[in-house]
Amino acid sequence: MVKRDQVVILGVPVDNVTEEEALAKIEAFIENGRPHQVVTVNPEFVMAAQSDANFFQVLKEADLSLPDGVGLLWAARFLGAPLSQRLAGVDTVRRIASLTAERGYRLFLLGAAEGVAEATAMGLEEENPGLKVVGTYAGSPDRKEEEEIIEMIRAARPHLLLVAYGAPQQDLWIHRHLGRLEVPVAMGVGGAFDFISGKAQRAPGWMQRLGLEWLHRLLHEPWRWRRMLALPKFVWLVLTSSR
Ligand code: UDP
Repeated sequence: MVKRDQVVILGVPVDNVTEEEALAKIEAFIENGRPHQVVTVNPEFVMAAQSDANFFQVLKEADLSLPDGVGLLWAARFLGAPLSQRLAGVDTVRRIASLTAERGYRLFLLGAAEGVAEATAMGLEEENPGLKVVGTYAGSPDRKEEEEIIEMIRAARPHLLLVAYGAPQQDLWIHRHLGRLEVPVAMGVGGAFDFISGKAQRAPGWMQRLGLEWLHRLLHEPWRWRRMLALPKFVWLVLTSSR
């Protein structure tokens, strides 16, 4: 196996890949055919992992960990091992859809509120003529629904499964079922369907460039403030960890 170029931030490994390299890896996973888990790590993930051993383990075992969030880029630079670029989940989903259309792969969209996965599929199909979305389903990460959802996915035989149940539920869900899903690539995508379907507004370009996407999210979804306290705690832990 090729050694992975990774940066470890507070114990959580993150792959140092460009968007092109990430897509090449995803394609290689599909060609290989065995099940692979992709995670998009941001500072909230790293902080959640500090107090959730199960989630920590899932992040350590992931086959590809994409750096999502300027906080991670800052931390990596501070720790002396800079990451090449930030890969926002929503951009990665769009690039995956275009790869899927080009190669004739099958895509399944699971999660988000009722109707959002369908609207996301329509948006992605419009952007990528020929894209094959073989299934969309809201469902929930509730254990009672697991068997039904697994059956649905197995019957649709996708190459790629994108799961939008929010972190850490989506990543734990994938990890629990990866062996049975018969899907070569499964990835947790957080709120990506909400943005692609137009249910939520993404920050304007200038805010993204200044690394202020988190502020835009906080202004539009103020109930997030408590969860977002993870960010200053993350900064503090990184600053003190290297002493
Ligand atoms: N979500 C869901 N079922 C759940 C919890 C969340 O479908 O039980 C969806 C929610 O509708 C949203 C997505 O998970 O589309 C991501 O949620 P959030 O934005 O909180 O996740 P984050 O991006 O912060 O990980």
